Amino acid sequence: MPFITSDQVQPEYDVAIVGSGAGGGQMAYTLTQAGLKCVMLESGRSYNPDTETAMFQRPDQSPLMGISTPDKFFGFSDATVNGGWTVPGEPYTQASDKPEEQFWWWRARMMGGRTNHWGRISLRNGQYDFKPYSRDGLGFDWPLNYKDVEPYYTKVEMLIGVYGTNEGLENTPNSPKGVLLPAPKGRASELYTQKHGKKLGIPVIPIHRAVLTKALDADKIPAKLHPKNPRAQKILADAMRGRAACFWATPCVRGCNIRANYQSTTVHLPPALATGNLDILSDAHAREILIGKDGKANGVLYINKKTRKEERVKAKAVVIAASSGETVRILLNTKNAQHPNGLANSTGLVGKYIMDTVGASVSGHVPALENLPPHNEDGAGGSHFYAPWWLYKEQLKGKLNFARGYHIEMGGSRGMPGGRNPAPSDFIKGAYGTKFKEEARRYYGSFVGYACRGEMIPNEGSFAELDPKVKDDYGIPVLKWHWKWSEHELNMALHASKTFGALIEAMGGTVRSKQVKTGHDIIEPGGKIIHEVGGALMGADPKKSVCNSWNQTWDVKNLFLCDGTPFPSNADKNPTLTIMALAWRTGDYIVEQARKGNL
Ligand SMILES: Cc1cc2nc3c(=O)[nH]c(=O)nc-3n(C[C@H](O)[C@H](O)[C@H](O)COP(=O)(O)OP(=O)(O)OC[C@H]3O[C@@H](n4cnc5c(N)ncnc54)[C@H](O)[C@@H]3O)c2cc1C
Ligand code: SF4
Repeated sequence: MPFITSDQVQPEYDVAIVGSGAGGGQMAYTLTQAGLKCVMLESGRSYNPDTETAMFQRPDQSPLMGISTPDKFFGFSDATVNGGWTVPGEPYTQASDKPEEQFWWWRARMMGGRTNHWGRISLRNGQYDFKPYSRDGLGFDWPLNYKDVEPYYTKVEMLIGVYGTNEGLENTPNSPKGVLLPAPKGRASELYTQKHGKKLGIPVIPIHRAVLTKALDADKIPAKLHPKNPRAQKILADAMRGRAACFWATPCVRGCNIRANYQSTTVHLPPALATGNLDILSDAHAREILIGKDGKANGVLYINKKTRKEERVKAKAVVIAASSGETVRILLNTKNAQHPNGLANSTGLVGKYIMDTVGASVSGHVPALENLPPHNEDGAGGSHFYAPWWLYKEQLKGKLNFARGYHIEMGGSRGMPGGRNPAPSDFIKGAYGTKFKEEARRYYGSFVGYACRGEMIPNEGSFAELDPKVKDDYGIPVLKWHWKWSEHELNMALHASKTFGALIEAMGGTVRSKQVKTGHDIIEPGGKIIHEVGGALMGADPKKSVCNSWNQTWDVKNLFLCDGTPFPSNADKNPTLTIMALAWRTGDYIVEQARKGNL
């Protein structure tokens, strides 16, 4: 059973999975390793990282030296195909003309979705993050505790491979001994930030990223992940042996055809396919979920994008993992007599409380980093260090004018320059020839940048609904976005900008970004950090939520939402590791229900 076309679809599957990204990939892996027959529908085209990854292309070999364009926001060689802030033929609309009330919706329409080029920062939510309402009375608690999710964080980390260290900091969980791969050394700018961050009490530590710094232990890990399942162990061991350790030389945003970093297409889908239990349909855009007379989901109606015909797959259970916005859209577009307001929407909460991450950044110049001896800092294709949120105690004492926290992601290195002048023109001051080379060598690597990634509290002004007029190229109503930042996010962004200024000055540097007075001056637009979650609230009360703690909709017992939609809060921790951990947990629950004949 492999990649199929519509005419090869089986009469019925155990489970139909919509979406092949982080949530869908993890779900397919868990279910097929346990023996369930699954079909996966992916709206984008098939994509083969082995043959399509431009990881070795130098900037000078790319058009425009690889710099960003509207359709290739992260540079010419970015792995994303048919996606970005706009997707051909698939528009979305905004309820307001005001930029600060608009949402930027990023989609990757390809096999593996956004996992082909994401940043691979893989942080666990801490115990506070599952009970935010109990701490400060804002937003919602999860109907789950850290200890419910902890075993699944560990399993995902062992499967995909995550580097990092255990530092035992507040609300920044350790992984069990031996789970994390060794962390790469800090780059000069990261080490310098670590040294001077101490003056301000900011803990700068190795970050956790899904990149193999050494080969995974294929002799031991499979037995830990699949006890009593020798076939699953063998399949996983083979898949792990097909992955090599990072060789520290290429930007991960282009994808990784040596399979050193996590993407669904190289890590989840190959072993899932090797079970023989998975059929994958690409160019299959799910329009609505099929519901039987018994009120249960029994399949998916999709548009075959190549023929533009409506087609159907039948299944005993359905998982939607199409990313938050698109999952909301499918639910709202599934309307019938039983579900006049859309599927699983008896509470009217589908589409509500969508969140992104608070983003704000400041850059600076640090003379101490000038004229360093030449050395290669390409490293693991992304950050090596970061600073987790450190002001929990001050916040609890009421010393801050916002709730929740942010972590600091940092940039600055002497890695391969991508299409830009290695030193800005106000430093080079028109120098040319030998003088230009001297100036470039002097300044290269002496610029730093800090960005906050902060928690947004869900609010009633941030949601998506169906646009009553606009349809996409396939005749399906599109999403209309509403967006609002509260004072908490705006004050947090301002706090971050002041902190970054102080950090740069503590390093003896000067700030290069423009001075800001309000949070509105510096906060990134909604959706710009591409961490959208929410829209199908998870909770303990069926009258006040869409899903229970198994990502199972209250209204339709065999329908599961396995992307970020059920998130009741969006901690400052980037969301994808949590999406995968919950998908694995839900997958185990589905397998148990299937064994009991309850699907
Ligand atoms: C540049 C960038 C950097 C990022 N960095 C990080 C990071 O460092 N750490 C982190 O935690 N997160 C990061 N993210 C976010 C991360 O990529 C997402 O959280 C994660 O991919 C979400 O997984 P998902 O399965 O919900 O969605 P996706 O991975 O987007 O997958 C959804 C899939 O569903 C398909 N689909 C959509 N609609 C339909 C439909 N109607 N029918 C069939 N298929 C459909 C899509 O084509 C897509 O393939 C980043 C994202 C980007 C773009
Ligand atoms: S830096 Fe390492 S993980 Fe990233 S693409 Fe290059 S080899 Fe792969």
